[in-house]
This record gives sequence, structure tokens and C-alpha cells, in this order.
Amino acid sequence: MSAPPTTPGPPAQRRGDLDVQGCSPRGPWADVDERDWTDWRWQQQHRIRTLRQLERVVDPSPGEVRAIEATADRFRMAITPYYAALMDPDDPECPVRRQAVPHLDELTVREGDLADPLGEEGYMPVPGITHRYPDRVLYYVTHNCPVYCRHCTRKRKVADPRSAASHDQLDLGMAYIQDHPEVRDVLVSGGDPLSLSDDRLDALLGALAQVPHVEMVRLCTRNPVTLPFRLTEALVSRLRAHQPVFVHTHFNHPRECTPEAARCLRMLADAGFSVANQMVLLRGVNDDADVVREVNHWLLRQRCRPYYLFQADLAEGISHFRTPVAVGLEILRALRGHTSGMASPHYVIDAPGGGGKIPLVPDYGLRREQDTLVFENYLGQTYRYPAD
Ligand SMILES: *Cc1c(COP(=O)(O)O)cnc(C)c1O
Ligand code: SF4
Repeated sequence: MSAPPTTPGPPAQRRGDLDVQGCSPRGPWADVDERDWTDWRWQQQHRIRTLRQLERVVDPSPGEVRAIEATADRFRMAITPYYAALMDPDDPECPVRRQAVPHLDELTVREGDLADPLGEEGYMPVPGITHRYPDRVLYYVTHNCPVYCRHCTRKRKVADPRSAASHDQLDLGMAYIQDHPEVRDVLVSGGDPLSLSDDRLDALLGALAQVPHVEMVRLCTRNPVTLPFRLTEALVSRLRAHQPVFVHTHFNHPRECTPEAARCLRMLADAGFSVANQMVLLRGVNDDADVVREVNHWLLRQRCRPYYLFQADLAEGISHFRTPVAVGLEILRALRGHTSGMASPHYVIDAPGGGGKIPLVPDYGLRREQDTLVFENYLGQTYRYPAD
């Protein structure tokens, strides 16, 4: 056996630095100038919106072809070239493809499906604000996203040009926050807030920072996954002036864990943002403990903390993504204790109709025997603890 090296390797060999090396595949855009490719405006302008454009990247299945047409007026397709290039051109089951390309199952509305699964409308004191919990609000600032995720819970609003958040709505929301001293935590959401211009984002976070009772802001964005180039040094340095800002993002699969995404997350962490991930449990995408563990380990290496694992909700047109709750519980059981506690998110179900998030916890056999509590550890071994 050789002795362990006594000097650390060159920096490039150290912890997780391989994560940020190189570039992900570019598919049919191999010849695009590097400056264009990494320019988020170029990416936005060249988004895939039609079957013809999609055919340049993948070989669409007959089902996908029909679904693109059939879903066009309900929830249109849009995919950034960056995200599209992560798709497997030959496999319609590719996890990135499943999240971005329409599927015929979206047309199926199952009994019990809801247009507004989380009852957000019922808790809207003004358009653009959902105030469900005592001390925090969701503030919708746009309905646009670089990629329209097929599993989106806000399908009925997102991507719909008729419901675009107007300046009026933004002002009403801000006034509501200013008038409600109990609101200490504002989740800036949408759509994807990073669809707004740098100036408007800066102004928005600046205005929130001026509200004395608002202690923190969370920027809920999937751009690190779908358009990491949007997080430019210029934007990040402007937004960091409004700390504390938490960035909540949405990685679902290792295919999304690219060097570009890693650089984006590290830049946010370096700028002092606290970065967290909200994964959605999706059948055929990440309904597997190994997949979730791999994503979560990668996230931790980029200093992004897995926060929630969401059970898919009852939104219309996403029933094909739903897994039994038992699947999520099994994933949690496979993580807790077996790997860093920080890699175990809270598994929650957002209660239909607006009950809020309810944590789902694996069964560790907790029971009472006289004055003793009996339970199991992660290995299934029995332990006891005094009950009172
Ligand atoms: C998820 C959510 C929040 C934030 O919940 P946390 O558990 O604090 O992360 C706030 N408001 C609404 C309406 C939500 O759905
Ligand atoms: S980025 Fe978020 S809001 Fe936009 S489509 Fe995806 S899940 Fe929906």
C-alpha cells in the first residue's frame, strides 16, 4: 500500500473542483460564439418554441409531436438552448426532456385534479400576493420563465400572456407588504423573478429592504437550472446590496448538475447569498433514492442546501408525474443517517386547497411501552428512551 500523499494536490484537484470544469454539451449549437452562448439575452431570444425548432435538437416521438400542438394554447413550450442541449436526443424518457417537452398525458385531467391545487387564489388579499402563513407572503412579480416546466404547479398562470403581472399589480403587492407589519419574510416568486430586468429586480429588492418589518427576502428562481448565465456578476453584485437574500432554486436531476450551474451556485454563495434547493418528486425523473442523493451531494459541494422535497401536487395535467407518498418516504429513509443530514430535505405535501405544507416523515416505529418510548434508528435497530 502506498503512503497517503503529504502535500495537497494542485487546487484544481481539490474538493468538488471537477464540478466547475469544462462546459456541458451544446448539441446543434456547437458553432455558436462563446460570447453569444453565455449571454442570457441570446439564450432567451433563441428559445425553442415550435416543433420545427425542437427537431433540430431531438428526434421527437409521435406523442411529443402531437402533444406540442395539443398543449399550445394551454401551456406553451419554451426551452432555452442551454437546457435543450442537456436533453438526450434519442430518448423521450430523458429526465430533462420529460420536464421541458410537452407530453400527451398533460391532457388527462384526473378526478380530484385542481386548477388551483394549493388554493392560492383563496388566500389572495390583493392580486399578486398569497398570504397563507402568519408571518410570510408569496409575492408574484412576473408570469414568465426561461423554460416552462411541464410539472409546474402554477400552470394556469405561468406563461399566460393575458395574466402578465402588471406594474399595477406589483405596486399593489408592495403596498400590501408595507401595510402589514406581521410580514417579516417575503418570497419573491412568479413565474421566475429573474425574468425581470436588472433594474427592476434591483428596485424591487431595494424597496423591500426599505420596509422596516421585512427581515428577509427569498428569491425563488429556476434560472440556475435553466439559464445559469442570467446570474451575471453585474446582477449578483447589485442584488447582494439587499442582503439577507435567500435564493431558492429547483434542481431535480443529475443531468442538470452541469459545470455552468455549479459556477452559478458558487458565485451566489461567494456573494453571501444563502442558497437552497426545492426539489419536486417526479415519476420517471427522480423517484429514486440514488438520483436524489446524487443531486443533493452535488448541491452541497456548491454550498446549496437541499431544503424541500415536494410531493407533486394535484395541479391539472401533471398527474403522470405523481408518485405514491410511500416512494418519497422510502427516499427519505434511504438518506437519513446514511449520508450527511444536510443532504436530507424536508419531504412535504402542500395540502390541497390551501392547508399549507405538511411534513411527511418515515415511520421509525415510535411507540410507547409503559414509561418508555421505543423506536428504531436508521439501521432498523431498536432503541429506548424514557417517555416522561
Ligand atoms: C411554501 C410557502 C411559503 C414558505 O414556506 P416555508 O415553509 O417558510 O418555506 C410561504 N407562503 C406560501 C403561500 C407558501 O406556499
Ligand atoms: S420555473 Fe417555476 S414557475 Fe416557471 S415553469 Fe418552472 S416550475 Fe413553473
